Formats: sequence, C-alpha cells, structure tokens
Amino acid sequence: MNAVLFGPPGSGKGTQARAVCQRFAMAHVSTGDLLREAVADQTDLGKQAQAIMAAGKLAPDDLVGGIVRERIARETTANERKSASGGKQRGLLFDGYPRNLEQARYLDACLQDFGARIDVAAALEIAEEELVKRICGRRLCGNEKCGASYNIYSMPPRQEGKCDLCGSDLIQRKDDNEETLRERLAVYSSQTAPILGYYEEKDLLIRVAANGRVSDVRGSLLSGIAAKCGG
Ligand code: AMP
Repeated sequence: MNAVLFGPPGSGKGTQARAVCQRFAMAHVSTGDLLREAVADQTDLGKQAQAIMAAGKLAPDDLVGGIVRERIARETTANERKSASGGKQRGLLFDGYPRNLEQARYLDACLQDFGARIDVAAALEIAEEELVKRICGRRLCGNEKCGASYNIYSMPPRQEGKCDLCGSDLIQRKDDNEETLRERLAVYSSQTAPILGYYEEKDLLIRVAANGRVSDVRGSLLSGIAAKCGG
C-alpha cells in the first residue's frame, strides 16, 4: 500500500506518520528530510536546493521529482528482492509531497511506471485557532540542560514564566509567533486545497479530525486508512 499524508504545521503529522508506517509496514518518504540530507551531504542536488530552502521557497518540481523517482526505484528493487526470498513488501508513505497539482500528477505517473499507485490520501484537519493555541502557547525552559516544555493553555507551569523542574525562565521560540504561523497556515491551505480535490475526485481521500489527543487521532487515522484500503 502507498499513501500520502497531509497536515498543517502543528497538526502532529510527523508523529502520526511514524504510527502509520509502523502499523502498515511502510517506509516514510519525507521530501523535506531527503532535501535536508542532500544539503548536508553537499550533493549537486543539495547545492541547488540549499538557497531555495533557506528562503522558505519551494524547490523546483523536476528537482524534487527526481529524488522521489529515485526513492521509488530503490524501494521497488528492495521489494523485488524481498518477495524473491519470501519476505513482506513495504509500501511508501509520502510526507511533504506532493505540494502542488503537477507534483500529484507526476507522483501518479512515476508510481505507474513501477506498477504501483497511491491507495489512500489522508488529510489531518484541525481548526486554525487550535493550532495557534498549540504553537503560540508553547514555552520552553531557557536552561538547555533541562529542556522541559509547557503550553500556557493546556499545560501551564505552576508559576507563570518559570520552569517547574529547574526554576529557570521560560522562553518562546522565535518562529512560534502568531504572525509567522498564520502566514505558514495560509500558504499550506492555498497549496494543499487543490491537491485534496485531486484525490477526492479519485475517491482516495480521507479526512481525519486532528484536534483530539494524539492517541485518539492515531486511532481514527489508522482505522480510516484500513477502511479505505481494506487493510
Ligand atoms: P518540509 O520539511 O516538508 O517542511 O520541507 C522543508 C523544505 O524543503 C520546504 O520549505 C521546501 O523548500 C523543500 N521541499 C520539501 N518538499 C518539497 C516539495 N514537495 N516540493 C518543493 N519543495 C519541497
């Protein structure tokens, strides 16, 4: 089974992606992670992507498409070896890809070349106000050795502005501010809405409410995927 996972910043997508991969024996394909690795290794592709990523822009479709195709090819070869030796095949969970309609179409064409397809696209949905509370309410202990984290709405410290564990001042990360978050959410919804429509037309889309506890969201997501794919 191959799947795509969508979710706005702060929706817990990374945590849920790990649960999906574990439950359905899938490999996690995050184009953000693959690009960061390429930048760290200073490959040709990494050198091209570096400045674009630093500016918060999207890398060109052909560049990202190239690494996605390579990843699918690698997994197909590994699956062929596994099935030859009686092993279980592994599907792919795409995270951060596709980010526009061209990429969605490319992903379908690419999988088709390898005799595969997307079986389900899952979208984590959560109200913008809830995300603002989650992210803008986050406070971290300023003492790096402590590392405790709080949320002024859902998990406040006993004394305002002070860490319960070591008494140090609590700090707010620079990018955890409302203006930046609203900007990132606007970009997410304008880019993602047309892709959700693409999968909805193919009857592959499931929408999962992501405003509850992590374990409840995980339960709904896993059962939604299983129901869609008969897994
Ligand atoms: P992410 O970790 O998914 O937020 O991705 C980090 C950065 O990598 C993005 O801001 C883009 O610059 C780049 N990137 C990741 N995935 C894609 C994609 N599908 N298309 C274009 N650029 C991407």
